Amino acid sequence: MRYEAVIGLEVHAQMLTDSKIFCGCSTRFGSEPNTQTCPVCIGMPGVLPVLNKKALEFAIKTGLATNCRISTYSRFARKNYFYPDLPKGYQISQFELPICEHGYVEIIVDAEIRRIGITRIHMEEDAGKNIHEGAGNYSFVDLNRAGIPLMEIVSEPDIRTPKEAAEYMKKLRAILRYLGVCDGNMEQGSLRCDANVSIRPVGQKEYGTRAEVKNINSFKFVEKALEYEIKRQIKVIEEGRKVIQETRLWDSNKGITESMRGKEEAHDYRYFPEPDLVPITVEQKWINEIKASLPELPDAKSKRFASEYGLPEYDADLLTSEKSLAEWFEAAVKAGGQPKAVANWIMGELTKLLNEENKSIEECQLKPKQLTEMLKLMDNGTISGKIAKTVFEEMYKTCKDAETIVKEKGLVQISDESAIEKAVDEVISKNPKEVERFKAGDEKLLGFFVGQIMKLTKGKANPQIVDEMLKKKLA
Ligand code: ADP
Ligand code: MG
Ligand code: ZN
Repeated sequence: MRYEAVIGLEVHAQMLTDSKIFCGCSTRFGSEPNTQTCPVCIGMPGVLPVLNKKALEFAIKTGLATNCRISTYSRFARKNYFYPDLPKGYQISQFELPICEHGYVEIIVDAEIRRIGITRIHMEEDAGKNIHEGAGNYSFVDLNRAGIPLMEIVSEPDIRTPKEAAEYMKKLRAILRYLGVCDGNMEQGSLRCDANVSIRPVGQKEYGTRAEVKNINSFKFVEKALEYEIKRQIKVIEEGRKVIQETRLWDSNKGITESMRGKEEAHDYRYFPEPDLVPITVEQKWINEIKASLPELPDAKSKRFASEYGLPEYDADLLTSEKSLAEWFEAAVKAGGQPKAVANWIMGELTKLLNEENKSIEECQLKPKQLTEMLKLMDNGTISGKIAKTVFEEMYKTCKDAETIVKEKGLVQISDESAIEKAVDEVISKNPKEVERFKAGDEKLLGFFVGQIMKLTKGKANPQIVDEMLKKKLA
């Protein structure tokens, strides 16, 4: 029997508003516990929440960017449960009338475009944080996070593989970051994901019983947790048992999911309309204004990069995964760089150097124009591609211009034929055995000779001239 997985993700995104969703408290991360609280967000009786308009705008923006229908009439609801990080005893969320519905995003997996439906996007408030470490027999509660605006983005069960799930997450993150509505920081928890997964025999229409896996905080873990869970469910079925509907916790240290609570212990949230907040009515005019203000989004930018700059789809996709990366690329091209060459240097050397220091493109000191200037030195033959790597690394480290580095380090390419001939002759006369073998047909040795000549000229000999001259002399 062959099985396929059915996956739907619930993604929570913390919105980048300055203040909380129903009060004026700051949302800044990393402050002393309980310094960003007020009677509203710590749930004192008798206070009234007031909706932060920016949070509403951010949710609408996200809905528009993910092809959702925006509700001109929607409402908040109380989701009731008891937990120490939730002093009110209920979370203000949305239930039957969310702000956005019926959207989708597209992802590319194995060169195929897949459309993943978005069921709904709703707004809600975050809860506080319980801290169990360093408190002896006690636990601490930090309510700085209570009341930070969240969006919950619920997908249709359209995802079929762990890889698609990770791609979907990446695309969502890119969109949220392009819009500036969420920083997408998964380590700090500003983007979190619960994954619902079931399996069914290939060809079967009905869905199987799903498990919900919580506590996933990186793209890698989305894939790993789902891979584990799919295997586990297949094993359960093949052993003649039944998958039970339950909530499971991903343990990244052990690399497994563990049962947290079953359906019987599932919460009954007793949702009902929030009586302290009036229903939200949004004018179409405002929706149109927000729509007009949307930036060019990753998919559109990627298509444009492919057509305008003639880039392969892979390059275009990679370069547009982050807005700032795309901007770096375009700045280098605008300064006169040949697009494909610029793309190669960004995706290759620049990314490598940034990764080595765990830096993002925003933290890159090197200016796009500096890459372009270096490419010009390659084009006019001043430096070879090999030397360019050295120059680029030095340029990245020191932020000096390529020309300065080339002068200071004496890296100008040797194109003077007589100088190269001297090196070629020297290598040939020092390696008579290899010359004999080459002439007897061992053509692989050409690389050996080129290597020796490059060594002798400290990598500065023009490789084309070296190649031609060697072939002539050894013929
Ligand atoms: P809940 O709030 O109880 O988690 P929802 O109806 O909001 O329930 O569904 C949550 C997620 O589960 C959605 O992303 C949906 O696509 C997904 N889902 C629903 N049924 C299945 C299933 N049989 N297998 C996998 N995912 C599913
Ligand atoms: Mg759920
Ligand atoms: Zn507050």
